[in-house]
Order: sequence, then C-alpha cells, then structure tokens
Amino acid sequence: MRQRYNRFLKEEKSNDIKYLDLKLNNTCNLLCVMCSPEISSTWKKVYNKNKKELEIFNFGNSLEKYPYQSKLEFVTKYLNNLNMIKFTGGEPMLIKEVKTLINYLIDNNLSNKIILRMITNGTVELDDYWKRVFKSFKRTRVTISVDAINSRYEYIRKGASWDKTAKNIKIYNDYLDEITIEMVSMSINARYKNIFLEWCYKNNYESGLNSLIGVDYLSYKSLNNDLRAKYGIETNLLYDHTKFLELEAKMKALDKIYNTAFEKECDEFYTASSH
Ligand code: SF4
Repeated sequence: MRQRYNRFLKEEKSNDIKYLDLKLNNTCNLLCVMCSPEISSTWKKVYNKNKKELEIFNFGNSLEKYPYQSKLEFVTKYLNNLNMIKFTGGEPMLIKEVKTLINYLIDNNLSNKIILRMITNGTVELDDYWKRVFKSFKRTRVTISVDAINSRYEYIRKGASWDKTAKNIKIYNDYLDEITIEMVSMSINARYKNIFLEWCYKNNYESGLNSLIGVDYLSYKSLNNDLRAKYGIETNLLYDHTKFLELEAKMKALDKIYNTAFEKECDEFYTASSH
C-alpha cells in the first residue's frame, strides 16, 4: 500500500494535493466497544447521558467537539490533481461534509480521475446516491469493518444488526470490484478470528486483519494463555490479568446500558483458566 501511495506522490508536478486522508466529523450510528466519544457521536451521546455509569472509561474532558469544521472551501482550491481520497469517520457515509466534498468532486469533473477509499461500518444501505458516487470515481475501494460475525458482532458493534450488515456486505460486494471485509484483532474477538475468516472465504469476500491501536485492555494482553492456545493466537504481548479485569469491568458497565451480558456473550473468558 505504501508503495502505491509513494508512486502517486512521486508523480506530483505541482503544489496541488495528491492524496487526502480525511476524518471530517464524528457522526456515527454505532457505539463500538473499542471506540470513544471523540470518534463516534453515538458514543458521545450515550456517554453524556450515562456519565456516572460509564465513568470507568475515564474519557475525561477530551470530549469537546473535534475541530472538524472543515475548511472545505480552502481545500477545494488544491484538488485539481488529486489522485486519491480516503474517508474515515465516524461513519463517513453518514457525514454530511463527506457528501459535500464528494459532490464537489463529481460536479467539477474531478472524481473520474480520483481513487476513492471509504472505510465504513457497512450499516449504510447502498442506495442510488452511493451507487452513483462509487461509479463516478476512477476506482472505488471500500473496506467494511466488522470485527466478528453474528452475536459477537452485535456485542462489539453496539447498535448494529448482523443480519442487516451481512445483507449490505453482499450488496456492496456484488456492486463493487474492490471490497475488503476487515477485522481488528482484539481479545474480545479472538474466538471469532477463524470463524470470521471462514465466513469471508465461504462467501468469496476478500478479508483483512488489522492491528488494534491504543486500547490496551482490548488487546491480547487481556487474553489468557489457554484462550491463545485454543484459538491459535500468536502474539508477543504477555497476558496481564489486570487488563482482563479492566475489560470485564468496562464491558459490564456497557452491559447495564445496553442490556447485554459480557459473561454470557463472551463465555470463553470463563471456561478457560490460566488467570
Ligand atoms: S463504527 Fe467506527 S466510528 Fe462508529 S463507533 Fe464503531 S469504531 Fe467508532
């Protein structure tokens, strides 16, 4: 991937922007366990309503609105030679500033020279607007982040329905040439790693595994050695029981709000014991 970006950057012949990687707002319809109020507007809403119950997350005062107010008018001046644009979020397909910029690129006949990359949670229906958008770009590459399937998906990605997302994935995959279904490797979905890969293989979807960044208690540090052996997880991270206790406490805090049960959904943590 880096080589691909470098190739684009080397082709640069002017001061115009060649590659943009944008998070234009935190608008999102989900509350994923590894996310935060800064990144997801749903997380922010739920956190603000339940500060006492969720104080264990210790998000502190970093909840001021991101300085997302994008200077789109300023940026658009430099987009005439743009090669690639990537949108993440929040959920980029729900962010109004993303649509504004995409519409600008289409209306100004720039989109057909640009590769569009979209990292989405897969909950947004592929309607006529998005079909038109995706076909307007030179190439479109969509990554759908799921992290698990079935009930574990719904436990991790709170607010989403697996049936709906699975249906969307099929529709996206039928419509687009370049689509990857992705999972971030965490302790809470270690049990689903092979299940996820098999599901992708069975459905002929390209799959990807990504590394978790910055959420220590969800890393493999909270996955005990029995579970690592059971699910074939190889990692240099040593098991740290305090990280498991933190994971358990935080998931139980969210359980109270979402009427879920960590011990039930993630019962593998209670059936193997190398604590
Ligand atoms: S879909 Fe993305 S932005 Fe939204 S809550 Fe999940 S991880 Fe956060």
